[in-house]
Amino acid sequence: MAEAKQQAQTGSTLGLRRTVSLMAMVWGRSLREAPGATLLTLAEALGKITGALQPLCYGWMVTGIVQAEPSWFIAAVVLLVASASLNHILQMVGTTARVRQRERIGHSFDLEIAELSARIATLDHLEAPAYLDKLQALRDDSVALGNSLNATINFVNNLAWAIAAVWVAAAADPRMLLLIVVGIPPLLVQPTQIRWARQVEEAAAPWSRLTRSLLSTTARLDAGAEVRVFGLGPVLLRRLAGAADRWRTPATRLETKQGLIEAGLGLLYFAAALTVVGWILSDTLVGRVGPGAFATAVASVAAMQKLAQVLVVWVDMLARSIRAAERYHWLLDHARAVAEQTSDPVPVPQRLERGIDLVDVGFGYPGSESSTLEHVSLHLPAGSVVAIVGENGAGKSTLVKLLAGLYRPSSGQIMVDGVDLATIEPTQWSERLSGAFQDHVDLELTVQQGVGAGDLARIDDPQAVSAALDRSGTGSLAEAWPQGLGTQLGTAWQGGVELSGGQWQRIALARAMMRPEPLLLLLDEPTSALDAAAENELFERQAAAARATSSLGGITVLVTHRFSTVAAADLVVVLDRGRISEVGSHDELMAADGTYAELYRIQAVGYRD
Ligand code: ADP
Repeated sequence: MAEAKQQAQTGSTLGLRRTVSLMAMVWGRSLREAPGATLLTLAEALGKITGALQPLCYGWMVTGIVQAEPSWFIAAVVLLVASASLNHILQMVGTTARVRQRERIGHSFDLEIAELSARIATLDHLEAPAYLDKLQALRDDSVALGNSLNATINFVNNLAWAIAAVWVAAAADPRMLLLIVVGIPPLLVQPTQIRWARQVEEAAAPWSRLTRSLLSTTARLDAGAEVRVFGLGPVLLRRLAGAADRWRTPATRLETKQGLIEAGLGLLYFAAALTVVGWILSDTLVGRVGPGAFATAVASVAAMQKLAQVLVVWVDMLARSIRAAERYHWLLDHARAVAEQTSDPVPVPQRLERGIDLVDVGFGYPGSESSTLEHVSLHLPAGSVVAIVGENGAGKSTLVKLLAGLYRPSSGQIMVDGVDLATIEPTQWSERLSGAFQDHVDLELTVQQGVGAGDLARIDDPQAVSAALDRSGTGSLAEAWPQGLGTQLGTAWQGGVELSGGQWQRIALARAMMRPEPLLLLLDEPTSALDAAAENELFERQAAAARATSSLGGITVLVTHRFSTVAAADLVVVLDRGRISEVGSHDELMAADGTYAELYRIQAVGYRD
């Protein structure tokens, strides 16, 4: 967290090392992806050089006229036309190659960013605001990564053009070099402008995220009912307008400020150019400077002004690319750091002999001051069915996420048959888990695939899917659907059926039943949309099935806030504000006559009556 904040504050000014590393990164990738197209992009630089030589031709034309030398004049005209055509052709070839490469490279970075953020085994990069803002800025600006190739190609182009233009102007009259000095102020204010741009980008990121989130809420089908019933539309729109304003206004203000600065600098250049050209003209009138050289000098004025502008634009583009590259490296580093936490991984046990032990586990969410779990010590015996109960917010889901390896404990350890979970490779651990979570995904696929996704190896196996549906108590429901397992879920798709919240939950539950004999089956309130009796029946069936089939010592963890539905579990754990308040079998806890017994009695009456 502290590292994320510190990185967010790191400056992004142009430095030689950063520029070189950016160039190496994008050119390396470009050459690997399409070497031919990468080389073609250099045609543009050649085109730019031929363009920069044109003032020379104007000078020769004037010399030809003044000295009555038709051959000079004709040669100059031919050269001018030839260079104009060549310039056009080379630039066209180069630009086409550059644009294509920019898209190719941008797309390749986009894919990598999506893949990286999906692959990171833990979830904190998707949850803590500091990380999310960085990810948002990275996504907003992932085009800048594609553009970084553009920026570096333009650098080569513009450098070639600038050297040729300066040489032509200085050869005509060295005083033209004075105009380069006037080009320096824009470069001096450039770092400040870059800093402003970075500040605006980073300050805007939370508002950009909020705007998008509000926009999607107004357009989402599942939010439609609440938005209408509660009349939230106008409130959402007001908040949307406010957020969009705070997202966009700083950028607009900055553009105005920068426009004014550029206008001032333009006026300065105009005054300087007038002075230098006047000075050269006075020497031309007295014959100290040839008319050809004067014509070349005048024709170079625009190029000399463009020199500074081109450099400024290029520096700006490059700085933006460097900022995007830094965020990209941050994501790479974060992915590496998470992977390195298990750099010397221990294999997952094939079967559980002893079980899972939580040893004085404490946990606080990234960015949160308080602890969500404290001093949690618990033995989950191999082959058992464990129920975790507690009020909303007690920390049940958090415990489940820790068991799933989605977060690491802030203190203490989770031992899997004596092996610290932190030393087990997260993807290998995930492969031996299964689960249905509160915030399950509504996979809008066919029933077959939506359920089969729980065990990718058997995603197309109808028998496996039917068995999973039966175990989750959803079999009869699936039979009623128009095309059975082939039924498309989600009305956004042709012929699709819309499911109720409870039905989606059943699909998620069936998905959790797909993996044969997971070491840990996590059912985190998978039945919150069902009534207590249905939940009770499901838990009883699951407990019986788990006991009958688990030959690998797999543990089933059921989470619920209903105390009345878990009597069938071998072990009941009562969580209260992040701590274990009671633990034991149902009978033991009833005999102890504590909170569990009291709440069990109160809630049980509710569905027996
Ligand atoms: P339960 O599953 O028992 O309802 P949770 O484990 O979901 O409880 O939440 C426990 C506490 O942790 C709550 O106070 C909740 O606000 C907090 N919490 C949950 N998720 C996050 C998160 N991603 N970031 C910060 N705090 C969180």
